[in-house]
Parts: sequence; structure tokens; C-alpha cells
Amino acid sequence: MNTEIKQTDVELIQGDITKAEVDAIVNAANSELIGGGGVDGAIRRAGGAAIENACAEIRRREGGCPTGKAVITPGGDLYAKYVIHTAGPVWEGGNSGEAELLASCYQESLRLTIGNDIQSIAFPSISTGVYGYPTEKAAVVALTAVKEFVLQSNAVPTTIQFILFDEATHTCYVDALHTLNF
Ligand code: ADP
Repeated sequence: MNTEIKQTDVELIQGDITKAEVDAIVNAANSELIGGGGVDGAIRRAGGAAIENACAEIRRREGGCPTGKAVITPGGDLYAKYVIHTAGPVWEGGNSGEAELLASCYQESLRLTIGNDIQSIAFPSISTGVYGYPTEKAAVVALTAVKEFVLQSNAVPTTIQFILFDEATHTCYVDALHTLNF
């Protein structure tokens, strides 16, 4: 479904983010920037060595990517020119700052679009796989964070997609979008 916020389209799509025809896709990475399973493994497999080489360089230079922050690498063999890697929080019951950290993942990722000529970006559902963040809660945090960024920033991508792998996750995001009255 498409919803207008200012001039930015927010689209909720069920599918595989490695196939997204956007300028940048976001990876639900770990803070070590070491290849994992889930969406991270899928992106690294599809993008090839250019992604791992760039992650290795960031590991050497900065030690990795702290939870709630984001770093950018080339997209390698992907359609997307860039991969923005963000480390989501592990769910520990909700009282350990998980919501703030998750919101920060979306906002820091969007911040990296500025200055990198990124007009379109696709997000997966960060933290709701192995990291165990309840999807209904994560969807509200994700969409609220994106909405706040779009309302506060002058330079925003014209297209922001959420590419949700399975039907249950897609449904949670659609419900959250309605609840938030976008
Ligand atoms: P995290 O460690 O942040 O929880 P995961 O990769 O385990 O990250 O899961 C995050 C979400 O990404 C889950 O909803 C999972 O189903 C989804 N996912 C896995 N593969 C893909 C893919 N190819 N495209 C989009 N989403 C995916």
C-alpha cells in the first residue's frame, strides 16, 4: 500500500529485500558487522565480496557498528548501489531501551541517505527475527521513527519501502500504519 507523507511515499511490500530496485537497502546487521543468518546472510550472498570487504574495512577502522547506529557500504552485485548496515537491539523484555535503539536504527539509516544521493531506500523488519523483538511492537516503532524523520528533515528520500519477508510481518506493518493514521 502507498501512503503519502509530504512528498515521500512509504510502501509496505511483502518480498525479498535483496531484489529491491532502490538506491539503498538496509541490512539488519550485528554490531560486529560479521556475516550472520537471516536477512544479513541473504544480502551478503546476493551482494558478494564487495560488501564483506567494505565491512572488514569498517571493522578495522571503527571496530564495527554500535547498536542503534548505521554504516554504509557499496551494494556489490545487488541492484542497490549501497547497503546501509544497522545493528538492531536484542529484545530483552522491553525495559532495556530497546524501543529507543530500534528507532535510532531507522533514523540513523535515513540520515546516511543525505549526502549519498539516495532517493529510494528499502528496510527489512529490523530485530524481529533472531533478535526476538515482538513484530507488532517493532512495526509501530519503525513507522513512527520514519514518520518523525520525514517530518523533521528537509532532505528525505522520495521512496521509503519496508520489504517484509513473510505475510505475518507484512500484516503487522499494515496494521501499525493504520493505527498510526499515516
Ligand atoms: P535480526 O537479527 O535483526 O532479528 P533477522 O535477519 O533474523 O534480523 O530478521 C529480521 C527480519 O528479516 C525477519 O522478519 C526476517 O523474516 C526477515 N528476512 C529474512 N530474510 C529476508 C529477506 N531476504 N528479505 C527481507 N526480509 C528478510
